[in-house]
Amino acid sequence: MSFESSHPVGSPLFRQRLLPVRILACLVLALAFAPPGSTSPRVERLTAAVDPARLHATVARLVAFGTRHTLSETASETRGIGAARRWLASELDALARLPGSRLKPFDDRFTAERGPRLPKPTELVNLGATLPGTDPARAREALVLTAHYDSRASDVMDAASDAPGAVDDASGTAMVMELARVMARERPAISVYFVAVAGEEQGLIGSDHLARRLKAEGIRVLAMTSIDILGNTEGQDGVKDDVTARLFSEGVSAVETDSERRFREAVGGENDGAAREWARYVKRVGERYVENLDFLVLLRRDRLARGSDHLSFSKEGVPAIRLTEAHEHYDRQHQDVRVEQGRSYGDDLAHFDPRYAAKVARGLLAAMAQLAAAPAPVRELILGGAVSPDTRLSFTLPADPRVTGVVLYRRRADAVTWQRVTSHPPTSQLELKGVVPDSHVFAVATVDAEGNESLPAYPVKLE
Ligand SMILES: [Zn+2]
Repeated sequence: MSFESSHPVGSPLFRQRLLPVRILACLVLALAFAPPGSTSPRVERLTAAVDPARLHATVARLVAFGTRHTLSETASETRGIGAARRWLASELDALARLPGSRLKPFDDRFTAERGPRLPKPTELVNLGATLPGTDPARAREALVLTAHYDSRASDVMDAASDAPGAVDDASGTAMVMELARVMARERPAISVYFVAVAGEEQGLIGSDHLARRLKAEGIRVLAMTSIDILGNTEGQDGVKDDVTARLFSEGVSAVETDSERRFREAVGGENDGAAREWARYVKRVGERYVENLDFLVLLRRDRLARGSDHLSFSKEGVPAIRLTEAHEHYDRQHQDVRVEQGRSYGDDLAHFDPRYAAKVARGLLAAMAQLAAAPAPVRELILGGAVSPDTRLSFTLPADPRVTGVVLYRRRADAVTWQRVTSHPPTSQLELKGVVPDSHVFAVATVDAEGNESLPAYPVKLE
């Protein structure tokens, strides 16, 4: 359930701005942009196309390689990491050949140096496809979605034993492939990278290479998501849950500068880093499109002392989150496949729930399809009104002709998620009479005629 309410055209703020006579103008504007909370037929169509049977088939195929350990054999056509990556590459090529597909497959191949979990230099290959953006003014901006296709057994250096890795992380890999398939014909404003990354279990090696490579190529990643462990609906805690998924995000950027820290301390922005805004966005949009789905915005960068590929992007300054199931079963993670005293261990296909994975994939897809199509965000949001009973917000609207309005997000400073959402015609300032800025938090997004919203921008300066 979302705790946010939307107050579109009929809200006091909207009336305040528009009632002064121009009723015709008001009507035109009301029709010109979709109010927050509405859904678009395009995104409805995309989410409906996610196919649980395809997710199951992909997970089953990956499990059938026996092990996908990074150090496993590469020559066999039927077993090991080499066979798995050749199959993934052929699947990505097939997606690019679908009628009308705009996907551009790539491989990001490199030799990783010896390290704590790599006894010798080893070739790793990230496999992906890019859906190119169509806005020339934003040619270097992108969204990134990853899952890792390598797997492991109980001993992280054991490259020979079976390591089916159905949920960790064939499930995420299947979702990445399915989202690429469903979005293949889309023409988003900015590019989208769908990537099956290598070497996660050996120390996030593949995603680290990808994050640094994109940065070196000048690609500005607006939001990154790692899907890792998403398909098990019977937790070790005894809870059966096919409704909930967790979004982990850092509140404060890992690469925050001194001046950013001083500003954050001045305004209390530790719960409003860009990664946290992306997590909230996924919750807001995903739950709007998918019935009976509950995204938890957890105020942590990951589970206790554990990580995933989003951390490779966080350390490069990218807003990055991890999407994972709500109730993990630890007997099925990083365990040799075996039965001990009647208790079964191992990450097998039988415990992957494709309907649950499809539901969560639809939620994430809705958020990615909206953000990739959204106009550029507002810049230089300045917060004013300190030591006064009113709030003033001023900002620079992007020179993006698709902007049909701005959306103001607001919550009281004791709340975790946004509580009030109001729509406004294109403007570069908003004034809220009787809203004390000391007790509230604000952010502003842009929106287009279809209702695609940018990530909400958080203040960067005080008036
Ligand atoms: Zn994993």
